[in-house]
Amino acid sequence: MKTTLLTDLTVEKICAGFEFSAAEGKGLFGWGGKLTIQPEYQRNYLYAQNDGEKEKAVIDSILKGYPIGLLYFNKPRADEEKYEVLDGQQRITSLGRYIKNLFSVSVEGHQQYYSSLAQNLREKFLQTRLTIYICEGTEDEIKAWFKTINIAGIPLNQQEILNSVYSGDFITLAKAEFSNSQNSKLYRWKNYVRGNVLRQDFLRTAFEWLVQSSDDKKIGEYMSLHRWDKNIDELKKYFVAVINWIEKIFPDTKDEMCGLDWGRLYNLYHESIYDIAEVKAEVEKLYEDDAVTNKRGIFEYILGGKTETKLLHIRFFEESTKKTVYARQTNAAKSKGVSNCPLCAIGKNKNSTKIYKYSEMDADHVTAWSRGGETSIKNCEMLCKNHNRAKGNV
Ligand SMILES: [Zn+2]
Repeated sequence: MKTTLLTDLTVEKICAGFEFSAAEGKGLFGWGGKLTIQPEYQRNYLYAQNDGEKEKAVIDSILKGYPIGLLYFNKPRADEEKYEVLDGQQRITSLGRYIKNLFSVSVEGHQQYYSSLAQNLREKFLQTRLTIYICEGTEDEIKAWFKTINIAGIPLNQQEILNSVYSGDFITLAKAEFSNSQNSKLYRWKNYVRGNVLRQDFLRTAFEWLVQSSDDKKIGEYMSLHRWDKNIDELKKYFVAVINWIEKIFPDTKDEMCGLDWGRLYNLYHESIYDIAEVKAEVEKLYEDDAVTNKRGIFEYILGGKTETKLLHIRFFEESTKKTVYARQTNAAKSKGVSNCPLCAIGKNKNSTKIYKYSEMDADHVTAWSRGGETSIKNCEMLCKNHNRAKGNV
């Protein structure tokens, strides 16, 4: 990776042409238009939170002559004098906002907006030199390095790092669709996708569904291959197909649908045929069944043909039920001289007369829950652990 250290750029130069977008909540451009301040992160400006404590600290540092730390710019294309802030967007936005009179700081005990600063202080502020690294390199280099510098401040998440590494036409379009809090489709997507749109969680999900993996490497490969594409058709089409499929199979939206692994479920089951009315009735039935303790598992259970009861975390028998059944079974077994495990009792080996301790047994549904058996004392029997395990599913 090629890095160039610049030490002659001043606050004035970097803030030339600065614009703050209140609607988007971010700083846009600087350095006379050459610098994109919040390129692929789409992270809102966060320094104004908590009474602007952090943005005030940036201005205070400059006025006192303290360093504000290194700034890192990325130069995505060798043939263009365009830069993007990789690290330092919050600090640069603080500087720009101060010059725009968007907040004041305390100077020797008095609140001062930029426009009210004494002339000499204003000059000092504008002429302060910043320390900037310009980085050019391969994706791998920038990525490796970026992970290293990203240890301080508000850490970027994995997708934000990938966005910076593969910044370009494709990701700009992808973000306009998937990282845009103003996108009117979000209200539908939020039923199924969990997370923060501004922290790239929806974009991340779109990639994960499309590449069928949550592996950074796989997603990075795709982003790299399409970096300069002028459309996001494939990404969009796949995402929409998954959403449409969910809405078709499960037209009634439930809170528990949010954040399920829909990409995997779509892959496995989108070619299966379902009777929508039957699915709807089944969902309602399982929602009303108290024994189903994992409502989130209902959707996959139905899609998979209602065999994986373990997805539903069927409620266990109460301790008091188990103890009552144990006592009853054990007394009866002792009087007959057989094992208190009914399955051992009908066996031929030495266990056929074994009396197990309570701790050596587990409760079992006599009629399986999946065949309509209740989780009640009437349908409870105690089996030795071996037999219970062998009998398997509830
Ligand atoms: Zn047994």
